[in-house]
Amino acid sequence: MADLKTDIRYIKGIGEQRAKSLNKLGIATLRDLISYYPRGYEDRTLTRPIRDLILGENACVRAMVAADPTAHRISGGRTLVKCRAVDEGGSLDLVFFNQEYRKNSLHKGETYIFYGKVEGNLLRRQMINPLIEKEGQQQITGRIMPLYPLTAGVSQLILSRAVRQGLDACRELLEDVLPDEVRRRHNLCYVGYAYENIHFPVSPEALEIARRRMVFEELFLLTCGLHLLRSRRQDVAGPACRAVDMTPFYEKLPFTLTGAQQRAIGDAISDMCAQRPMNRLCQGDVGSGKTMVAAACVWFAAQNGWQSALMAPTEILARQHYEGLAPLFARFGLRCALLTGSTRAKERREILADLQSGEIDLCIGTHALLTEDVQYAKLGLVITDEQHRFGVNQRAALGQKAEHPHMLVLSATPIPRTLALIIYGDLDVSIINELPPGRQKVDTFAVGEDYRQRINAFIRKQVAEGHQVFIVCPLVGDGEEIPDERKAVTAYAQELQQKVFPDLRVSVLHGKMKPKEKETVMAAFAAGESDILVSTTVIEVGVDVPNANTMVVENAERFGLSQLHQLRGRVGRGSAKSYCILLSDTQNEETRQRLKIMTQTNDGFKISEEDLRLRGPGDFFGQRQHGLPAMKIADLSCDMRLLDEAQTAAKALLADDGTLEKTEHRALRQRIGELFELNAEALN
Ligand code: ADP
Ligand code: MG
Repeated sequence: MADLKTDIRYIKGIGEQRAKSLNKLGIATLRDLISYYPRGYEDRTLTRPIRDLILGENACVRAMVAADPTAHRISGGRTLVKCRAVDEGGSLDLVFFNQEYRKNSLHKGETYIFYGKVEGNLLRRQMINPLIEKEGQQQITGRIMPLYPLTAGVSQLILSRAVRQGLDACRELLEDVLPDEVRRRHNLCYVGYAYENIHFPVSPEALEIARRRMVFEELFLLTCGLHLLRSRRQDVAGPACRAVDMTPFYEKLPFTLTGAQQRAIGDAISDMCAQRPMNRLCQGDVGSGKTMVAAACVWFAAQNGWQSALMAPTEILARQHYEGLAPLFARFGLRCALLTGSTRAKERREILADLQSGEIDLCIGTHALLTEDVQYAKLGLVITDEQHRFGVNQRAALGQKAEHPHMLVLSATPIPRTLALIIYGDLDVSIINELPPGRQKVDTFAVGEDYRQRINAFIRKQVAEGHQVFIVCPLVGDGEEIPDERKAVTAYAQELQQKVFPDLRVSVLHGKMKPKEKETVMAAFAAGESDILVSTTVIEVGVDVPNANTMVVENAERFGLSQLHQLRGRVGRGSAKSYCILLSDTQNEETRQRLKIMTQTNDGFKISEEDLRLRGPGDFFGQRQHGLPAMKIADLSCDMRLLDEAQTAAKALLADDGTLEKTEHRALRQRIGELFELNAEALN
């Protein structure tokens, strides 16, 4: 046997046909086969004397066949084979449907192990279609059996046999990618033991030990791989920058930066001063002041003679950035421009010319910044805001406007640092975990439908005091397959306008509107032209309306915590006391708990961790980032501790051997290359 890349059809006992079926499960090589992990296990270790069998329980029985089996024809042309087995204290009826061969395969006087669900009554115990094995074999009874994800034509038995053959075939081939030192320090078992027991655990403890090692290995490989990817960038030079005194910039700000903002700026500046291009994610809760971090970087780049581009996901956000930043930079004699889809042709031509001649220092815009005719004289820094609205590709496209510009990504989706590392793969991460002083927390309430009247009165009161209100509904109306309980946003807004708030100005915003329409509605609301904005989650990422101090979320149970938090971030941006009311009639205890968390904290990181804990990382891993290996065994909702441990181990190892050149790390390095689908050259 050559190696783990061997095609499974050459493995002893598998063959062409079976290999074809296994291929359908994505199993092509020996490595695939042994890494096809069970999704669960069935414990068949329990063996009981017949008289102690418990109805409804699965159990193994060691019993002797007392009389030759009899076969009968029953309705529908089926056959029924019956047989009785006995042990010292009782007897058990065995019934087989459509297994005529049992008549000749079970022999009077011989002892077998039967495994199945105990049925019948107190007097007669029975098993229907039990699994049977000769005594002492212990292949399918008397042990913990793996349960694999299946496909048509491949049964559990076929799979477990194939895996058995795979494991036997590679006994000599399994090389441990974990350096011995790491394995020992973190109390991890040998690789052979791990593979054996992840498939065929000899005990629940053995399974746990095996699983621990497998998960660790997966996360360790991931971390090391990401590090290698990152260090690859060290080879290209970024736009050259040197340290400059930032005091003049800070002095002109209307406030003092928070410690967290300063740290993030410091991270970014030291990135830009290093040899390689910056590739940094700056994560901060809504309102944490990410824009200023970006602005400081722009100013820094400009002092070094570089132009910057700032890309926002919507025109209105771009405009807001422009209106905030242009006057600030003007005070330093730096010039900003706004370039969006609706920039007039003439103005656009002028902006393009000035970008190309280098007279514009910062260009703010939407994806219009990506079109081909936009050329920069000296683009040194590219910032994308609210990253989760941009595809990785778009980010890359903007990056191509210059050789290797510094890249800064701003994101308001707080995720635990460890997860960020995985999701954003090759990005360095700064976290702004502190809000500017004096920020009021948004008072949040989770209430039921019985509060409706009071809420309406409350809305009225806020509007009377000159404030504005968001009402968020889960889905767009006028729709096809939408369950009726979901508020159709348009109809709902109409109803509110006509029946509940005839004297107030109600407007509507939803995702099915054209971008232009959305912008118009949003801008009108921001300008105070309406009192209540009924909306879907399209307002989640959005524009500042400091005057809006109240948000009501309908059917709040339909939203994830992180999303609720994001939505809530739309209020509490002004000086007035702010409120968020989560309406839900759910009876589900878990959901109530979830909503309660919202009332207890305003900390986006805490919330996202809770969200992760409650719902699992599925949402975070919605789309696989290109180039990152899929997690086969690690479950990030419960393996976070192990992730921490694996990352610590990886860091320690890489501190010693940053490129994994040492002989003892050869296997590790090679495995990473395979996992990340990199060729050796790319890793070098
Ligand atoms: P976000 O991180 O959500 O993008 P912004 O950058 O829009 O947050 O900042 C939110 C508000 O806080 C803005 O009005 C901004 O001027 C203000 N702000 C930012 N930093 C500070 C600070 N250090 N002290 C006081 N206010 C600040
Ligand atoms: Mg922002």
